[in-house]
Amino acid sequence: MQSYCESLTEFKRLATREVRIGGLLLGNFNPIRVQTMTTTDTMDTMATVEQSIRCIEAGAELVRITAPSKREAENLLPIKNELRKRGYTAPLVADIHFTPNAAEIAARIVEKVRVNPGNYVDKKKFEIIEYSDADYAEEIDRIRERFTPLIKICKDYGTAMRIGTNHGSLSDRIMSRYGDTPMGMVESAMEFLRVARDEAYHNIVLSMKASNPQVMVQAYRLLVKTMFEEFSECYPLHLGVTEAGDGEDGRVKSAIGIGTLLEDGLGDTIRVSLTEDPELEIPVCRDILKRYESGIDEDRKIERPGDTNSVQKKSSEIPDLPASGLSYDPFQYQRRETFAIDNIGGRHVPVVVADLSKLPAIRPGDLQSVGYTYDETTDKWNISEAAADYVFTGNQLLDFELPGTLKVIVYPENWQLAKDKTKYFPIYYARSYVQSLKSLKPEQKTEVFFSSTLNFVMFDCFSKSKDDLSWLEKFANNPTAVFCFSSENRYSVAAVRRMFIELLERKIKNPVILITDSSWQTGDEHLIHFATEIGALLLDGFGDGICLGMTTKSYEHLATSFDKVNASGRNYLSNSNPEEFINNTAFSILQATRARISKTEYISCPSCGRTLFDLQETTAKIRSVTNHLKGVKIAIMGCIVNGPGEMADADFGYVGSGPGKITLYKGKDVMKRNVNSEVAVEELINLLKENDAWVAP
Ligand code: SF4
Repeated sequence: MQSYCESLTEFKRLATREVRIGGLLLGNFNPIRVQTMTTTDTMDTMATVEQSIRCIEAGAELVRITAPSKREAENLLPIKNELRKRGYTAPLVADIHFTPNAAEIAARIVEKVRVNPGNYVDKKKFEIIEYSDADYAEEIDRIRERFTPLIKICKDYGTAMRIGTNHGSLSDRIMSRYGDTPMGMVESAMEFLRVARDEAYHNIVLSMKASNPQVMVQAYRLLVKTMFEEFSECYPLHLGVTEAGDGEDGRVKSAIGIGTLLEDGLGDTIRVSLTEDPELEIPVCRDILKRYESGIDEDRKIERPGDTNSVQKKSSEIPDLPASGLSYDPFQYQRRETFAIDNIGGRHVPVVVADLSKLPAIRPGDLQSVGYTYDETTDKWNISEAAADYVFTGNQLLDFELPGTLKVIVYPENWQLAKDKTKYFPIYYARSYVQSLKSLKPEQKTEVFFSSTLNFVMFDCFSKSKDDLSWLEKFANNPTAVFCFSSENRYSVAAVRRMFIELLERKIKNPVILITDSSWQTGDEHLIHFATEIGALLLDGFGDGICLGMTTKSYEHLATSFDKVNASGRNYLSNSNPEEFINNTAFSILQATRARISKTEYISCPSCGRTLFDLQETTAKIRSVTNHLKGVKIAIMGCIVNGPGEMADADFGYVGSGPGKITLYKGKDVMKRNVNSEVAVEELINLLKENDAWVAP
């Protein structure tokens, strides 16, 4: 084991215990299972059956149904019977919060129960209590007493269990001792897991969900480390980002959290929580898993995502980690220290480089796709919050005046022709530069291609040979060299991460732009590719800028697809062209990793049988009036039972508190209770105004 996974330099799934859920095996290198949760009222048997069937037919291998009280738990029986009668055998999971008696009924009916250790025994009062060691031990005894009956039932009935911690609903006991931290999340699950092991019950899956992918990733990594240190073995992991929201942002957030962990070889089952119909979550899960499907079951290796040619390509090996081990902390975020060159690196937020090189002749109107709109009447450029900082144009010099903040990256031959060297900067491969130097006389060597202020130097990390490391030295700490890392290695995330480890080892502080090209086809596939490849590195503090691109074939395919609704039924491609789609995706990734905030953040629950209003419609309505509030985090939660706890670090909350009633929060504090839903959005705007969080659209 390397720190928290099998390997940090190649793809190896973590060995976990095998768990049986009805007829389904999970963990121990079984395929990564896909699941979702119904949103119907559990007491509406036929609606729940019909929705479950839609989910199963879409590919769900497990279906979770909420059981908030004994009534709903009992109603799982007719639901299960009807599904079995119609020939659907997918295991069912009862979702339990607060109600052990409902869990004890459900565990006799369905194949798996999910308990939340934050509220199974404890009632949350948001109180900070000082616990002595004796008080704490007494609390653990209380857990044992309350939790053991459920374990015994699960053992008798062969029922599996998920101990599912949520960042937003940690108990007051855990909060008092560990705070709102990944370690607190881990300990919350471990308290329950130790009780289960003492009873020799092992049919257990664990989850550590949070709406912030960074917290979630750290918590899963810490959980693996903790389990391994304490038990010398690991239980299977259910991965998910909770309250991820909808549309593009929901997919990006989910792919960053889930994808980062899958790249580490962690994860035995996944659920993507979207504020959309549950069957729409399944294609997103499948798209996330596609990266790992080729050969994963036979030899536990991935092939290069989406690139059929690369299956035959022999990637070079990624060097082992240095003997001194990891030079960064994978359990705690810290941005890699760099010096600044222009607006890249140092304390600057990561920059966005937009690739316009596939446009045949770039006109001023094309810059609208990357955030710059020219206003003829005022002869000025309007710059949006999501405006790219640099454009890469390849061989093209632009024959019009550029917006003041925008700069252009071109190939060296074109850079030499550019008149304004304060606006144009060269990009070249480290390899070709080093080779070209060999043919020059010593006195010429300092002049070749190098801008005196800013050069972009590309490294194709461990794609073809190991020489990248020696080339690195040629540019190390050169005060004009911004590195650009990409990789065609089939373990591309690991390859680029290994280069960062080398930079840390050698104390090289040049800023780095992360580059990735997607060779997938649909909007969802591209989003997931970008979010996984870039998000996984940003979460570890690596990267001072990002540049997303596409292979020519993918670009042409996407360019002709903008009028079509993609497979998930939602048309992200309402962006008018690939450049706009890619630019918006870049800013969404930076927002989801909290590396650069450019828009409002929405934390909306996926809804379930507890939901008290139409979440999808309400989320869309709130989004339409608040989407200009950069940096404000707004939670939209379906119920008052879990909503306030689960909305994590939202600044404001809109929570269903009864039929037709909404309660509005500022942080965790109730500000307006039981507002009529007809006027609740207006009241939310008033609340934003009263707290100086509102600006005119
Ligand atoms: S917050 Fe949303 S998903 Fe969670 S229990 Fe309440 S309604 Fe269901």
